[in-house]
Amino acid sequence: MITSSDISIDNIDRKIISLLQKDPSITHTEIAKEVKRSQPTIGLRIKKLEKAGIMNFQAGLNLKVADVLIARVDLQTNNPEKILNEIKNCPYIINGFQLSGTYNLSLLIANSALKHLDIIINEHFRNDPDVLKIHMEIVTNIINDFVLPMNLNTKKCKCDEKFESH
Ligand SMILES: [Zn+2]
Repeated sequence: MITSSDISIDNIDRKIISLLQKDPSITHTEIAKEVKRSQPTIGLRIKKLEKAGIMNFQAGLNLKVADVLIARVDLQTNNPEKILNEIKNCPYIINGFQLSGTYNLSLLIANSALKHLDIIINEHFRNDPDVLKIHMEIVTNIINDFVLPMNLNTKKCKCDEKFESH
């Protein structure tokens, strides 16, 4: 099996990825012409990159364009694994980063209503004894397109049960 650690990408791969990013419908023949390699070579390289998970064809919501509020929530926690596990199924927590500093977890949370962002943070973190500090900022501008797949889990999260009463 090929794993991502076995894969190093070279300049041809970079060129292929950048051509596909610009135009996902570009043909292998067109790519072959651009990078001056044979068409079967292009097919093999694309297959290799996809199989290793290095390159993804991903549809999602462009948060730069969509009418949605995004909060960046930094947490100081004794137990980042527990927190990451708890929020795995929350449809509003779209991604997270484990960090090396005092705030060791940074999450991106999206919702169309500011009051819902508060509820999401309250429900998931405010009463958790493993969360020592919480710092929230609202994103006011996104520089580049920022396309993220939405969690399409239709199961209710404990946070959105509180939305109706607010
Ligand atoms: Zn939730």
